[in-house]
Parts: sequence; C-alpha cells; structure tokens
Amino acid sequence: MTEAEEFCHHLGQVAEVTPSSDGCVECLRDGGQWVHLRLCMICGHVGCCDNSPGRHATAHFDETGHPLIQSFEPGEVWWWCYVDEFAFEVDGVPNFEHS
Ligand SMILES: [Zn+2]
Ligand SMILES: [Zn+2]
Ligand SMILES: [Zn+2]
Repeated sequence: MTEAEEFCHHLGQVAEVTPSSDGCVECLRDGGQWVHLRLCMICGHVGCCDNSPGRHATAHFDETGHPLIQSFEPGEVWWWCYVDEFAFEVDGVPNFEHS
C-alpha cells in the first residue's frame, strides 16, 4: 500500500480517463473564464479551480461525488481528494497536462 492509499481510500475508483475538453466544460458552455484547470480522475470532466469564478471542479464534485482530481496544468502532477482533503502525487501515472 502506498502512502497515498493509506490516506485516501478512493484511489480504487480512478479510471483511465480521457479529458473531456481542453478547457473547463461549463465555462466554455457559459462563456466564462478560468484561472486553472482540474481533471476529474473518475470520469475525465475538466473543470476550473477554486480561484476561478465558476469553481466548476468543486461544483462537479458536489454534483457527482467524484472525489479525485488531478491538476490539468502544465508541469503540475499533484492530485487532490475532496473527501479526505488530501493532496498527493502518484508515481507511474500519466500526467494529463494540457499544452
Ligand atoms: Zn480520498
Ligand atoms: Zn469553469
Ligand atoms: Zn467526474
């Protein structure tokens, strides 16, 4: 068991996701703007961070209960679990950073 799995029991829900979009799905739909992007590791939803007006990544968690996101920013490989409020990095997984 890795250190991350000790703190977060949701890692088993992670799927091989395909990012749903190159930008925040809701912001693109509504014409909003985002600061940073977050990728849902359960379904591939791309949403914006809590510094963005829409906070759509958090809204996606509230709606779906999907607990795990990865940063979708270039060079950032950290993950975040909303349920455990736990940030960590995972070795050996693809980094989904967009360009
Ligand atoms: Zn967790
Ligand atoms: Zn958004
Ligand atoms: Zn999701």
